[in-house]
This record gives sequence, structure tokens and C-alpha cells, in this order.
Amino acid sequence: MQYEQIVLRYGDLTMKGRNRNRFEKRMIDQVRRALAGFDGISYFKAYGRLYVKLNGQPYEPVADRLKDLFGITSLSPVISSEADLAKIQAAALELMRAIPVQPATFKVSAKRAWKGYPHTSQEMNHLVGGHVLRGLPGLKVDVRNPEVELRVDIQEEAVYLFHEVIPAAGGFPYGSNGKALLLLSGGIDSPVAGWMALRKGLELEAVHFHSYPFTSEQAKEKVVELAKRLSYFSGEPIKLHLVPFTDIQTRLAQSNNDNLIITLMRRAMLRITEELAARSGAGGIVTGESLGQVASQTLPSMNVIGRSAELPLLKPLIMMDKQEIIDIAMRIGTYDTSILPYEDCCTLFLPKSPTTNPNLKIVEKVESLIPDYEALLAAAADGTEAVMLSPDTATAAQAAGEDSWF
Ligand code: ATP
Ligand code: MG
Repeated sequence: MQYEQIVLRYGDLTMKGRNRNRFEKRMIDQVRRALAGFDGISYFKAYGRLYVKLNGQPYEPVADRLKDLFGITSLSPVISSEADLAKIQAAALELMRAIPVQPATFKVSAKRAWKGYPHTSQEMNHLVGGHVLRGLPGLKVDVRNPEVELRVDIQEEAVYLFHEVIPAAGGFPYGSNGKALLLLSGGIDSPVAGWMALRKGLELEAVHFHSYPFTSEQAKEKVVELAKRLSYFSGEPIKLHLVPFTDIQTRLAQSNNDNLIITLMRRAMLRITEELAARSGAGGIVTGESLGQVASQTLPSMNVIGRSAELPLLKPLIMMDKQEIIDIAMRIGTYDTSILPYEDCCTLFLPKSPTTNPNLKIVEKVESLIPDYEALLAAAADGTEAVMLSPDTATAAQAAGEDSWF
């Protein structure tokens, strides 16, 4: 037996009322783009569902791709039948026979969405169940806790039969909730924050601060890899802004306020990011901060750092434990890249005892005493280079030649 179609359900969208059509359209566009590499696939839209017609393709690789897209709550490989009892019964038996490890128990759950069909859902449970039992003598019915639940969905255009419901990533389709900039370091947290932001339907561009030549080519490659991975989930190329941060860091280090340097660097990052956001029309900034994780992520630190920006700061990981974040990083395939041991621009300048309780007045005073500080920040924004990355983009070194990005 070959599955004919995959049905996609997008429950979350139903809550969005009037925006529904727009969301639905984005979802379908996103699915089309993500499946562009598969031959001969076509689509059929029904209320709250989308059918992907496989036209002979095996369903597994298609389902694997779809379950990582946002806006889809679950999917099922289905076969279909005409709305004719004998045909539905035959299809049900065929579907049950095709299950690789035959179950001991099952039940039929029919749903008559099309009221023009002559048998009720209850009647169908018995009519289809009885036929399957006659064809598979070892099988028993267990209505409470069946090993297999055979669903029969009676729609006007066709009757769909399936038994698998594969959970998908949920959330909203890409770009349906506006645009934000993601502060992407090479660490574990910020790629996870990026994934969560994408899942909420945010269109993302990534911003990375580097201290070339103090930080290496590998440190950049790592961030490029992480950005490429994020673009797999959105199904869209992602723009990565590479901001030259060396001059600012050097200048901040010269101000001899060792314990404030992380606070000062973070504020500088936010101000530059805000400038980039204004240029790209982004309405928020996403970071991978998590309360209490390091000195710069205490409440007083976040207060002083956050005051350098006016845009909303979105911190999806703020209340999560490290282990929960790591679990997601592993699941979404960013963890192995994140733990590669290349130095980050901030670790280079990490003081012995960064403050956990910076004083806003003092921080502002220090900034005001740095000669031409505004111009320095503007120069970093102006010196930013951007690259577009997709999952299949060649590595940066191959694509652009040695060092040519910096
Ligand atoms: P991560 O694992 O994301 O690096 P972290 O727990 O190591 O986070 P920090 O290094 O203090 O925490 O960084 C806090 C947040 O600041 C990061 O999650 C990221 O959003 C942002 N950030 C830090 N360094 C950079 C950088 N070099 N470029 C861009 N954003 C950065
Ligand atoms: Mg970090």
C-alpha cells in the first residue's frame, strides 16, 4: 500500500479570527517552498487543513520536512476512498494490513463531517470495524486503550483513512507576527531563542558581533552554521549581519572599568542592533538571555542593559532552566555546533569579577566620557556586512574566499 496524501492540520490558526486567511496563505506558501525539492507534489486546501498529494513520492521524507515547519500542529499520511461503504471498508482493511507490526487491538473512530453521507459516525464505527475484524481474525476491539486507532474522516470531496497522527512544531507560519532581529552568539542559548521566535511566526534577521582578528575564522563559521540551521526551520534564507566590534571593545577596555565591561558591551550591542533594526524595519530584538545564568543576566544587569534600547526586548528563554534549553538545542540540531570550543568576542574581554548589580548613573557617565562614542557606534553599524544564508549555502570560506567578509 502506498499513502496518497499527507493531511496537515493547523489548529493554532483557528484562534486568529479575521487574520485567518492571511495566516493560511502564509502557511501554504511556506509548505510549497519547503517542498520545492520534491517532484510532482500538488496541494488541496480544505477548511483548517491542507492536503499534500504525494503523487507516488514516499511519504516519510516529505513528512519529515513538514513536521519541522511552524504553523502546523500535526500531520497524518492518509489514503482516500470514494464515499461508498464497500470501498471504505476495503480501504480500511488495506490500511490495517499495511501496518508493519500488526497490533493486537484497535478501534475505529469515524467522523462524518459531510452530513450528506447516509451512515452516522457510530454506524460507521461498527460497519468498518466489523469488516476489518472479519479480514484480520486475530485482531480485537478495545475502545478504551487501542493499540491502533483507525480514523475515518468523511468529507464531501472524499473519505480519508489514517491511523498515525504525527505531532508537528506548532506555532505560527514564518513572518506572520512581524520582524525582529536575533542577537546570535555562538553559544547554546541564542539559537534556541531564535528557533522559539521563529515558531511564534517572527521573521528573523540575525546579528552577530565579532572581534576579528581577535576572534577566529572558525568562530564566524560556527555562527554561520547556526544561522543556516535556523533558516532550515523557516524555509527561507536568513540574513546574517556581521558587526565589527573590535574597536568598540578595545575602547571600552581602555576606559578601565573592568567589572562594568560586559554591561557596557551589551549596551553597545543593543544600540547598534537598534540602528540595524531601524534600517531593516524590524520591530523587536530577540536575545538568548535566561534569568540568573551569568552576571549580565541578573535583574539589575538586565535593567541597566535594557535601558540602552527602546525596542521591545524579546527573551524567550528568560524563565527556562539550562537543561531545558539544552534539550531543545539537541532536538533542533544546534547543540553540537554550539559547543564547538571557539572563543566569542565577549569571552575574550571577560573580566575576573563582572558586576551583577551595575549602577545606571555610573554606566552612563563612563559612556559619556568615551571620546566620540556615538561616532564609534555609528561606524560599527555602517561597517556591518550582511550575508544571506540557506541550509545548502556553501561554507562561508568556500563561498567568499579567505577572510573576505571581514
Ligand atoms: P548564548 O549561549 O546565546 O551565547 P549565554 O548564556 O552565553 O548565551 P551571554 O554570552 O551573556 O549568554 O549572552 C547573552 C545574549 O546576548 C546571547 O544569548 C545573545 O543573544 C547575545 N549575544 C552575546 N554575545 C553575542 C555576540 N557576539 N553577537 C551577538 N549576540 C550576542
Ligand atoms: Mg554566550
